[in-house]
Amino acid sequence: MKNQQSNSRRTFLRNLGTGASALSLPLLGYADNQFVQNETSGLYSLLTNPNGEPLGQPGRKLGIALVGLGYYSKNLLAPALQETKNCRLAGIVTGTPAKAEEWMKKYNIPKENVYDYKTFDRIADNKDIDVIYVVLPNSMHEEYVVRAAQAGKHVICEKPMAITPKACQNMIDACKKANKQLAIGYRLHYEPFTKEVMRLGQEKVFGPIKFVEASDGFRIGDPTQWRMKKAMAGGGPLMDVGIYAVQGARYVTGEEPISVTAQFSPKTEPEKFKEVEETMFWQFQFPSGAVSNSTTSYTAGVERLYASCEKGWFELSPAFGYGPLKGRTSKGPIEQPVVNHQAMHMDGVCNDLLAGKKLPDHVTGGEGKRDVTLLQAIYQAAETGKKINLRA
Ligand code: NAD
Repeated sequence: MKNQQSNSRRTFLRNLGTGASALSLPLLGYADNQFVQNETSGLYSLLTNPNGEPLGQPGRKLGIALVGLGYYSKNLLAPALQETKNCRLAGIVTGTPAKAEEWMKKYNIPKENVYDYKTFDRIADNKDIDVIYVVLPNSMHEEYVVRAAQAGKHVICEKPMAITPKACQNMIDACKKANKQLAIGYRLHYEPFTKEVMRLGQEKVFGPIKFVEASDGFRIGDPTQWRMKKAMAGGGPLMDVGIYAVQGARYVTGEEPISVTAQFSPKTEPEKFKEVEETMFWQFQFPSGAVSNSTTSYTAGVERLYASCEKGWFELSPAFGYGPLKGRTSKGPIEQPVVNHQAMHMDGVCNDLLAGKKLPDHVTGGEGKRDVTLLQAIYQAAETGKKINLRA
């Protein structure tokens, strides 16, 4: 860190180019996140971050390339990238030529920023693309995150990070080796209602948490989609949306579970759910004594996060979708601004990348791996009928 700072100071002075007046200006401390403060001084066009990347040029936005132009890219990420301040849609990776044509026209993407899965690695030579956002089926995340890192780009990877903890570790290692940052698509960590319940729980505003109920499920449509195939999805609703309930219990308590028990429901549509679970339940126990109970399902809609504390309660419902989220406490409603989750997430990640700051741990690969490890433990508990000890 010391080296990084002195290097950034040298870069700062070199880029300012002159003597005394430059020295009287405040030096940037990347660790202190002075990005916004210094932006007002108008000095940004003169600076680079510790990676040598231009820092906060007026109007400078990081170029993002979306990999996989399915539902989430098309309906949420690309529209959000029209609103973002710190990043823009610069490129696409798709195996479907018709989609490439449509996206180039719609978003004014130059042909040289369009790749398919074979030409993907050539992104390494494209200066217009700073960040690769992997939005593919779960089992493909590992390969494309590793290739993105090897191409020398920062990476955002959708949740669940991968289908095994080992794959998560490979992704973390590849990014570390390339000296690039890896963010997970944890949009809710930038969302105001969610941040507020994290605060209420972690600061024990209503006293210690005794019990959490966190559940997320929906009725799935097309039974032929990859989400119903174990090899591609890693599992059923637990991998897809149950992960939000796992996150919810962890971020309101601010604790890591020490044991888990879990149960599969009987299948009501066995023909449809041949490879993955239909509905399941699990219970975490936390070091403080708090317990949580969760449900996830592909046949029943449910979406809530409730915490019962010694001196009151708080809840979000809806709690995990694209919003608007709604919240209440035992003292009254939770009032927070309604935001575009995807724009907040990408802007938040890119703000740190532009400033050369390390991303907060709770949105990175380490957090993604912790969740995938817990998802596997939940399956193990349900399959064995045993309480699984999660203490390392
Ligand atoms: P989708 O099926 O709509 O899109 C997947 C894309 O991958 C498609 O464009 C498809 O053509 C492409 N693809 C490439 N190779 C493929 C292959 N071999 N098989 C299937 N598709 C292939 O899926 P989606 O809903 O966009 O989900 C993509 C990822 O985003 C998943 O990891 C999912 O969990 C995640 N997601 C996150 C959120 C969120 O709120 N953060 C919401 C939805 C999806």
